[in-house]
Amino acid sequence: MDLKKVVREIDDFPIPGISFKDITTLLQDGKAFKYSIDAIIEDLKDKNVDVIVGPEARGFLMGTPVAYGLGIGFVPVRKPGKLPSEVESYDYGLEYGKDTLEIHKDAIKPGQRVAIVDDLLATGGTMGAAAKLIEKLGGEVVSMQFLIELEELNGRDKLPQYHINSLIKY
Ligand code: AMP
Repeated sequence: MDLKKVVREIDDFPIPGISFKDITTLLQDGKAFKYSIDAIIEDLKDKNVDVIVGPEARGFLMGTPVAYGLGIGFVPVRKPGKLPSEVESYDYGLEYGKDTLEIHKDAIKPGQRVAIVDDLLATGGTMGAAAKLIEKLGGEVVSMQFLIELEELNGRDKLPQYHINSLIKY
């Protein structure tokens, strides 16, 4: 299936120079959405994954159906101040300034095999931070799964130690 056809590209959003990949059009298309989730599940099914982690917010949309399909749990990684129980935090650099991600401290058990699912790999900053959080809690990141990869930003090069799969490449 040509998934690129159902991703809407919006130029100069949210700022000039960015070609925003809008996945809401893919989510609206039941066949394309199911095809995408099934493809991620297929890639993960022999990797003995114990839990799926998804970063806020589009990682929730892609990650929860993958977890459901595999019959395993889902753990959200969120922006600061959103998770109610005790959290582990990680600060990471952005092009301008910094950002922070959080995970519940008791959400990953030492030795658990974790796959991270998100909508899009750009610079790899978000994924690197999510992986650090999982590893701080003793989890092992066995795969990173994306709907979309922006190859020219070389996010992969920042994450050489991880298995990465993406369904649509720009
Ligand atoms: P990064 O940390 O640079 O890999 O950025 C990843 C996150 O930013 C993804 O989870 C996307 O939701 C969002 N993002 C970055 N660039 C784009 C883009 N061109 N179109 C849509 N979302 C983007």
